[in-house]
Amino acid sequence: MRKIINIALITAIMLTAGCNQTPQETLTPITLGVTTADNAQLTEPPSVTETPTKPPTEPPTEPTPEPPTEITGTPLQQARALAARDTDSDGVDNSWALWLVNRRNPLPEGYVPELSPIAPSYDLDSRIAPYALLMMEAARNDGITLAVIWAYRDLPLQESNFRRQYNEYVNAGYTRERAFDLTAYGISIPGASEHNAGLAIDFNHIDESFDQHAAFRWLQDNAHEYGFIMRYPKDTIFITGIIYEPWHWRYLGVDMATRVKDSGLTFNEFYAIHIK
Ligand SMILES: [Zn+2]
Repeated sequence: MRKIINIALITAIMLTAGCNQTPQETLTPITLGVTTADNAQLTEPPSVTETPTKPPTEPPTEPTPEPPTEITGTPLQQARALAARDTDSDGVDNSWALWLVNRRNPLPEGYVPELSPIAPSYDLDSRIAPYALLMMEAARNDGITLAVIWAYRDLPLQESNFRRQYNEYVNAGYTRERAFDLTAYGISIPGASEHNAGLAIDFNHIDESFDQHAAFRWLQDNAHEYGFIMRYPKDTIFITGIIYEPWHWRYLGVDMATRVKDSGLTFNEFYAIHIK
């Protein structure tokens, strides 16, 4: 059954994780009542000889809600418009998270997300850290350990990881171009990694055999309920440009993760068809 993320629970977890952000602002209802101006009409008008006091304050104006924009255009344009206004069933707008981050779509230069811890020495974008914490707690309650082995990586770390692997291929006799491509299939080039965006977590084992573990099966069954998808499924390197990575889980928001999972498509395909 679909779980709805409980905002109160998220807040509690964020507080225990030392995070000060709340995922959603509380809306304060505007109370409409008799205003100062209305009251003034009920009392005696001031005598003309009296020194006029301050003019009555303007009554508070209620913000006019934006009328929903009509979705028009071709089916593709309509799909884009709908995706752009997508709001998760937990009330959080996750449209910001629908980034395609890869070699052809690198992050803006100098991009550094605001970070919150999800494990000792590991951070994630603050907006999604609570979901990762909730997911790991839910797994723990089911007897499953999800151990974070990578989360946010800054550019220097991404560069040193990439360079180390690249040098290994060069030393093994590959041309520089081939060594670059082979490296990029497994380690995204700096600035083109979902880890640089703080959007992805690697769990437990950097090894294809992770898909034989109970933790992987748990993620397959449940991760979308916390907004995460397996980003690089088996035999999709020709679409994603990245090898099979059962350990790499990327945040999209609860509703979008569910839609991508249900579609059976990679995020690249889903993005091309429904988002961009
Ligand atoms: Zn990863």
